[in-house]
Amino acid sequence: MTAHITKSWIQVPSNSDFPIQNIPFGIGQTADIPPFVCTRIGNSVVDLHALSELGFLEGLGIDADVFAQSTLNALIACGKKAHQQLRMRLIELLAEDSAIAEHESSIMLPISHVQMLMPIQIGNYTDFYSSLEHAMNVGKMLRPDNPLMPNWKHLPVGYHGRASSIVVSGQNFHRPKGQFKPDDAAMPLFGASKQMDFELEMGFVIGKETALGESVSVERAEEYIFGFLVFNDWSARDLQKWEYVPLGPFLGKNFASTVSPWVVTMEALEPFRTNAPMQDVQVLPYLERTNQKTFDIQLEVFIKPENGAENKVCTSNYKYLYWTFHQQLAHHTINGCNLKVGDLYASGTISGPTPNAFGSMLELAWRGTKPLTLADGTQRSFLQDNDTVIMRAFAEKDGLRIGFGEASAKVLPTL
Ligand code: MN
Repeated sequence: MTAHITKSWIQVPSNSDFPIQNIPFGIGQTADIPPFVCTRIGNSVVDLHALSELGFLEGLGIDADVFAQSTLNALIACGKKAHQQLRMRLIELLAEDSAIAEHESSIMLPISHVQMLMPIQIGNYTDFYSSLEHAMNVGKMLRPDNPLMPNWKHLPVGYHGRASSIVVSGQNFHRPKGQFKPDDAAMPLFGASKQMDFELEMGFVIGKETALGESVSVERAEEYIFGFLVFNDWSARDLQKWEYVPLGPFLGKNFASTVSPWVVTMEALEPFRTNAPMQDVQVLPYLERTNQKTFDIQLEVFIKPENGAENKVCTSNYKYLYWTFHQQLAHHTINGCNLKVGDLYASGTISGPTPNAFGSMLELAWRGTKPLTLADGTQRSFLQDNDTVIMRAFAEKDGLRIGFGEASAKVLPTL
């Protein structure tokens, strides 16, 4: 059993996101080593391909070549039992007095020497809209008398987004250009978006596929989820506002989204279960929660101007979401829509009850009417060129901290 193991032969800083209880999965590469599956402990990356070559990952039902891939998909496809056994094996190998300590130089790399790659080949990407506070805030701006659409408390609203423009933390992108129409203009204009925004979200990665026609119940949803990551759904609000009626988000969203490089497993998040908000409208039976709990994950957003300091602009929590991930998945599949290993399902902007917990610039600066003042004295209603947005997520309880690292990228000037 591994439940008692809390210390490693690797030095882990006390505030690290990556203690021995985490064991997230990602894909790394270096100048000398092609892409490999890895985990992280403290500030060290553990090369699972190297570990496998040394014979330490045998008997888990996972072929050795799975660890030499450039995405996690093949590993994920091995199934939950295999991941859980791999996780336990890694915890044992990283525990104090482990036999692999003598191999440190061939299996461990400092994080500063590793380039983290996009962890998943994402087949399908869906974005939900599951925060009541976010939906109310945006609704109040657009429809002050009737902020919440009549369907909102009856189903988790979502849309199908673009998978291939989702990139890993550290990959910067150019401010999109497109059509927008100011309220006082007779005709639409064309140019660089003037309302670049972020959306603070988390996403879950599918670990088990279903056939077309099959549905996944609220009760069984977790069997289909491999893990979670941090997700920034970059949004060009001016493009979005002009284009979204009647079919929803399009070019205001699909130019880039950013994910954290580490996928944190359901097993690592288990100690942080908490109740989701009460739902005050009776839902249809297929969406009823029985005792499904969500996770208490603290979320932070920072804006860092070029050559400037990080400014914390938002403190929120995954637990605020009105619709749980179980309900999202049950709804997504109730019509027989299939699930594929590596699909990504993002939560929607996670806003909380207080103004400092709003998960987008649109809300934080309230549509430009309350600009934020940064430490350098400059103001922001939306993002400026060369602003870096950094999102961090971590769960903390009884001295245990399980973190996700960060999802960070810079808004470069329009091409
Ligand atoms: Mn979104």
